[in-house]
Amino acid sequence: MQNKTQANLDGSAKELERLQTRIRELEAIAEEKEHSEKIHRALLRIASLSSEARELADFYSELHQIVGQLMYANNFYIALLTDDKAHVKFEYFHDEEDDSDPTQWDPEPLDSFKSTLTGYLFRTGEAMLVDEDDLNKLSAAGEVQIRGTPMSQWMGVPLKAQNETIGVLVIQSYSNDIQYSLGDRELLIFVSQQIGILLQKKRYEQRLKEYNEQLERKVEQRTAMLQKINRDLEKQIHETEQAERLQAALFKISELTNTAQGLDEFYLSLHKIINGIMPSKNFYICTYDESDGQLDFPYHIDEFDSNTESRRLDTSKNIDECSPTEQVLRSGKPVLINKKNREAWLKKNVFFGTVPETWLGVPLFQKDNKVCGVLAVQSYLKGKSYTRLDEEVLVFVAQQVSTALARKRNAESLKKAHEELKAINDQLERRVEERTKELSITNKTLQSMLDERNKMQKKLAFEAFHDSLTGLPNRALFTNRLEQILRQRSRNPNLHFSVLFLDLDRFKVINDSLGHLMGDALLQEVASRLEDCIRPKDTVARLGGDEFCILLRDIDNERDAAVIASRVIESIAKPFQLNEQKVFTSTSIGITISNDSYKSPDDVLRDADAAMYHAKEAGKARYALFDVEMHDAAMKRLTIENELRHALERNQIKVFYQPIVCLQTRKIIAFEALARWVHPDMGMISPVEFIPIAEETGMIHDIGLFILHHSLGTLKFWKTELPQSADVSMSVNFSSKQIEHHDLLAEIQLALEENQLDAKSLKVEITESLLIENAALAQRLLNQLSEIDIPVLLDDFGTGYSSLSYLHKFTLSTIKIDRSFIDRMDRSDKHLTIVKTIAYMSSQLNLGLIAEGVESERHVEILKELNIHQAQGYLFSMPVDAERARQLLIDFNSGQS
Ligand code: C2E
Ligand code: CA
Ligand code: CA
Repeated sequence: MQNKTQANLDGSAKELERLQTRIRELEAIAEEKEHSEKIHRALLRIASLSSEARELADFYSELHQIVGQLMYANNFYIALLTDDKAHVKFEYFHDEEDDSDPTQWDPEPLDSFKSTLTGYLFRTGEAMLVDEDDLNKLSAAGEVQIRGTPMSQWMGVPLKAQNETIGVLVIQSYSNDIQYSLGDRELLIFVSQQIGILLQKKRYEQRLKEYNEQLERKVEQRTAMLQKINRDLEKQIHETEQAERLQAALFKISELTNTAQGLDEFYLSLHKIINGIMPSKNFYICTYDESDGQLDFPYHIDEFDSNTESRRLDTSKNIDECSPTEQVLRSGKPVLINKKNREAWLKKNVFFGTVPETWLGVPLFQKDNKVCGVLAVQSYLKGKSYTRLDEEVLVFVAQQVSTALARKRNAESLKKAHEELKAINDQLERRVEERTKELSITNKTLQSMLDERNKMQKKLAFEAFHDSLTGLPNRALFTNRLEQILRQRSRNPNLHFSVLFLDLDRFKVINDSLGHLMGDALLQEVASRLEDCIRPKDTVARLGGDEFCILLRDIDNERDAAVIASRVIESIAKPFQLNEQKVFTSTSIGITISNDSYKSPDDVLRDADAAMYHAKEAGKARYALFDVEMHDAAMKRLTIENELRHALERNQIKVFYQPIVCLQTRKIIAFEALARWVHPDMGMISPVEFIPIAEETGMIHDIGLFILHHSLGTLKFWKTELPQSADVSMSVNFSSKQIEHHDLLAEIQLALEENQLDAKSLKVEITESLLIENAALAQRLLNQLSEIDIPVLLDDFGTGYSSLSYLHKFTLSTIKIDRSFIDRMDRSDKHLTIVKTIAYMSSQLNLGLIAEGVESERHVEILKELNIHQAQGYLFSMPVDAERARQLLIDFNSGQS
């Protein structure tokens, strides 16, 4: 069994061996077949590659795969010459040992490959299979230099097109396990020939493609550019058209302000214009008045809504809750409602009336940039939608409308103002007319009033320069004329004039005895007689009281003036028939003739007055010519007047005392105080000289008081010192000017009180003229004095009016007979008779008597015979100073009575 089995086994082994060999044969055949099929497939694949449109990168990687199927090709690269054949570009590179990617490199100069196998391959253009030995040989020959990773085998074939090397294909192995055969080299050469053609073709294709692409890009670019230009142009054209349309519209709008008549017409035209720029069938203008918050719709065109009622802008609401119009007003910004935001607006529910499909409103501004209204367009057309461009346009239009509106409004208000002005003017004119009528009536009344007034004024003017009683020029007019003639004379020294100063004699007596009316009548008659005496060119004036003045022009000498003066005296001397009563009077006249020393009318009047005084002195009813002596006297008087002003304060006024003696006892019963002025240069000045001046200047009051106080003081002194003076009193003179002083009585009482003297110690001496000139005042004072028991003596009796008729009217105590009568009573029977009459009268009236000017014992004898017991005169003593008077008291009153 074993053998059999062995045999079986041996047989089987042989069979197996045979089978195995067969299998190996079959396998080899199959391998062979597979190899050639592989090559075949590879070549087919390569051939088909060329027809497939592929990216070059894919193409190379495919090539790599195909070659890799034929032989070991893990390290594989393809490098091509660039078109200039001077540079090398790695097209594909795959290496197990080298990570770098030379395909990313820029083409490198062919020279830089000089000492490499690649360079050598480019140089020879022959396929080569190089092992280490070959490499060393090449290196030794100086063809290459060895560097980089040491390789086992390097196989390179040139890639050719039309017999020209265009590149190289290289594979290499770094392992000794992998050895390329010459068959591999032949295969690679074969493949590389295919590749070369393919590559060339591929490169052309590539170039073409690139060129095409470039071209296409260019066309695209150009097209894009053209399209852009086109678009720009179109846009420009559109914009220009739009701008032109706008321009035209705006021009029309601004034109509107000048052409359209009213605002309504303006709005209507505005609507038409806006409709020309954008569809705006529905258009309205809303105006807003900030002062009252009122919204008005002066223009409102709408397909659906016609509610254009004014309303108030509601600012209490949130702006989002307002109508679009109000939103524009409040924000001052345009509001656009269109497709995009309409839904959102609908939700707000803020529309008045029908909701539009699209709405566009823009603000109108006034000068100060405040919103004053809204311009709005809207459309109810399905699908209609205003755009931002419309908004821009409308904003622009609104700007124009704002200005136009402002201009329009200005023009309107101007027009209105003009109309109002015209109305006011018309009214004014009517009123002026009415007023003119009224005025002309008033004017007539006024004119007549004016005439009346003129008359009055003339009358007043006349009265201002004329004496109302006689109608003669008054002192003012006379002074004027005198001034005038003085001026004429200063130019013409040969011009002579004369002034006559008249004073009626005894006028006071006439006035007092016959009454004022008779006095006035007399003055009037005198005036008319004076006018009859003079020539037309002369002037007769009444200066006041019974004083008149005559200005004679163009006289040759004093005689001319004297002739007229005589004529006047004659005329006045004739009796005056007044109310069936014949009255006699006369006038004393002072005459002065022009001379170079006269500068003012006062100078002339002063001299004429002085001359008149002389005429009176000389016995009245006559004229006296002013002469040099009179002038000197006048000058002296002036000096005295000036000096007298300081006399009191300079202590120059003294009091002298003259005793009044009782003829029976030869004792002094009184002293008369007599004023004296002791001037350092002028010496002792008589009261006859300075008292009249003191009276005229008003100084008499102070002088009088001084004498009163001083004399009473002296009396008091004597009374306290000398028992002889116990019953002695002081006689003090008072002139008429003094009694005019209202508190004279009080002054007298005061003086007595101060000196603790009783009323009987003082006697008041007044003159007849005082009683005549100031009758009322005198009577009052005399009554008052008698009430307090102060005796009043009537001085100088007989010199004045010599009328005893009025004596009973006054409460007098004693009469002093003027010394002119005493002086002559021993020589003239006439004077003796007068004294006798006075003595008789006074006893009848129960008045005491004092004889003045007793100078001799003969006088005393006569006086005694006439029962006159008191006397005063040089026989007893001249007036003496206080000291000597005191001595007189002692001398007279000490002896036995
Ligand atoms: P009369 O009041 O008549 O004063 C008397 C004047 O006669 C005094 O002059 C006196 O000196 C003068 N006489 C007295 N006895 C004789 C005499 O036997 N023979 C002469 N030939 N003369 C005599 P007198 O002092 O010059 O005064 C003149 C006048 O001046 C006074 O006159 C009087 O009117 C006035 N008078 C004097 N003192 C005052 C005064 O104090 N006040 C006022 N108002 N007048 C005064
Ligand atoms: Ca006297
Ligand atoms: Ca006397």
